[in-house]
Amino acid sequence: MSAKHQDPFAQAREDMVREQLESRGIRDPRVLDAMRRVPREHFLSGSAARSPRHVYADGALPVGRGQTLSQPFMVAGMTEALEPEPHHRVLEIGTGTGYQTAILAEIVDQVWTVEVDEVLAEGAREILGELGYDNVHFHVGDGSLGWPDGAPYDGIIVTAGAPSLPPPLVAQLAPHGRLVIPVGPRHLQELLLVWKEDGEVRTRTLLECRFVPLVGEEGWQSPTA
Ligand code: SAH
Repeated sequence: MSAKHQDPFAQAREDMVREQLESRGIRDPRVLDAMRRVPREHFLSGSAARSPRHVYADGALPVGRGQTLSQPFMVAGMTEALEPEPHHRVLEIGTGTGYQTAILAEIVDQVWTVEVDEVLAEGAREILGELGYDNVHFHVGDGSLGWPDGAPYDGIIVTAGAPSLPPPLVAQLAPHGRLVIPVGPRHLQELLLVWKEDGEVRTRTLLECRFVPLVGEEGWQSPTA
């Protein structure tokens, strides 16, 4: 038996990829490899991090400060929708635990990530540093305005729900870029794929989803009201 299979987390991770991702149609080998490599258990704390079954469960997990770690299938599906390539620069809005950031950092050249909550941002920066990711740029601030410093981006991924499509994000998207963002009412959104074609902005709905609110100038006024 290889060392990998003696590690219950590695085993649970393999099972997650097979049962939750491959079986539901995630095909991009880069995405599947990244999901096989990133140890989700490091992005949780306390007792939540101790059970392989809990860590790799087929759902979102509460991580404190009113936020959640997205379901593995959602992380993989949103990443696949970006069609990420090794030379890409990707902007992520909503660093949260940093798990999605790590998946992106496994695949693309540079990740630019913005988090509004300073405590979460610090936690993510620490764990991503410990895991050795050196291609991530962190910013604490209102990501509904994007992050012009790294623009234009080949991909933009928003992991919080917006009331409408924030114009700055569209502006910071490269002409060939792809933007994935949940848009809609507070408790149920549509996951939109947004791209530019012949000078126009096109959108396609991928699925229904439920994310915590994107707050800020181009988001909701407050987390609850
Ligand atoms: N991708 C994360 C999950 C994010 S939950 C993960 O893998 O763990 C959504 C995150 O978006 C929360 O951390 C929340 O604080 C953040 N957020 C909400 N509004 C934001 C804004 N305007 N700018 C940046 N981050 C924001």
